[in-house]
Amino acid sequence: MNDFSVLCDIPTPLLYWYQGAKRDLPWRREPTPYHVWISEIMLQQTRVEAVKGYYERFLAAFPTVSDLAAADDDVLNKVWQGLGYYSRARNLKKAAAAVMEQYGGELPCDHKALLGLPGIGAYTAGAIGSIAFGLPTPAVDGNVLRVVTRLCGYDADIAKQTTKDTVSSALAEIYPRTPAESSAFTQALMELGATVCVPNGMPHCAECPLAHLCAAHAAGRETELPKKAPKKPRTVVCKTVFLLRCGEYYALRRRPDEGLLAGLWEFPSEDTVMTRVDMEAWLSSHGFAAKKIMTLSPAKHIFTHIEWHMTGYLCETENRGKTPDFVRATNFVRATNFVWATKEEIAETYSVPSAFSAYLKIVLS
Ligand code: SF4
Repeated sequence: MNDFSVLCDIPTPLLYWYQGAKRDLPWRREPTPYHVWISEIMLQQTRVEAVKGYYERFLAAFPTVSDLAAADDDVLNKVWQGLGYYSRARNLKKAAAAVMEQYGGELPCDHKALLGLPGIGAYTAGAIGSIAFGLPTPAVDGNVLRVVTRLCGYDADIAKQTTKDTVSSALAEIYPRTPAESSAFTQALMELGATVCVPNGMPHCAECPLAHLCAAHAAGRETELPKKAPKKPRTVVCKTVFLLRCGEYYALRRRPDEGLLAGLWEFPSEDTVMTRVDMEAWLSSHGFAAKKIMTLSPAKHIFTHIEWHMTGYLCETENRGKTPDFVRATNFVRATNFVWATKEEIAETYSVPSAFSAYLKIVLS
């Protein structure tokens, strides 16, 4: 049985420290439930510095829940482009629609109701509940797990849901009971994990307001914790990506509505390694008359569980192939096949995910 009793002593020094140490972040200036929600979703798997610009642009495009609920999918994807994990954007829109329908456009001040919204799990519900509404609901992410496991000398595997649940229950016991302090406590724990009790290397224990309470620090075990079982190796998918250029237009196609990068635009590709000879056969079978084929540098993109290893070709063609529904891109076209767009149209209108950034750069250069 682990001893979490040390947690009882952390609110006072942590809250005092936070008053002087908190960073000025855009989402902290006006922490409405909507703002906290958007920022917390963006901050999952993305660095604070990278999120700042996206957050401002997102709120400029969708200032209210109602605007988000009515968002055009392509505009939403374009605003999200570069943040990755696009299912987060899709869930934001779905949840906004549910908030409009079920709660009159206001996020509910209730942990269970928040958990019932698409894309809102225990962490996000805890963060919105405590930061925006002052509820005593912990928000346990990687930063908080690191701080708590070190403070308590807790050796459990932080990848396990049982560990997250245990830490969350232990924190719930000691949450401050005033709304303002609950809000600040959640942010203070996150801030300590992000700026002082950092991952990868030595934490800055000399600057830590909880060093006198910390089991890992007392035992010199700061870098041993938290414990995390090694991840399974990612699946490698080899792909061949085609930059098909006809005059000043490039071919794009929409990805399927389900699965990885669902509904986004991509350069045509095949899930196999193709030689130049294979490529020529592919072009011919699709009715393209190739003028010139250039081999591009290989590229790699790493998703959470998959790696794409890509081979690329730039093909200048005389024509746009033989498929009858090839369409010239004048606006968003929900075609199941290719659209043809200039580089300016690709830059301004089409959300091509960063998995293709090595090839997108070539098109936009
Ligand atoms: S003393 Fe060091 S290891 Fe312990 S919580 Fe503070 S920064 Fe983290």
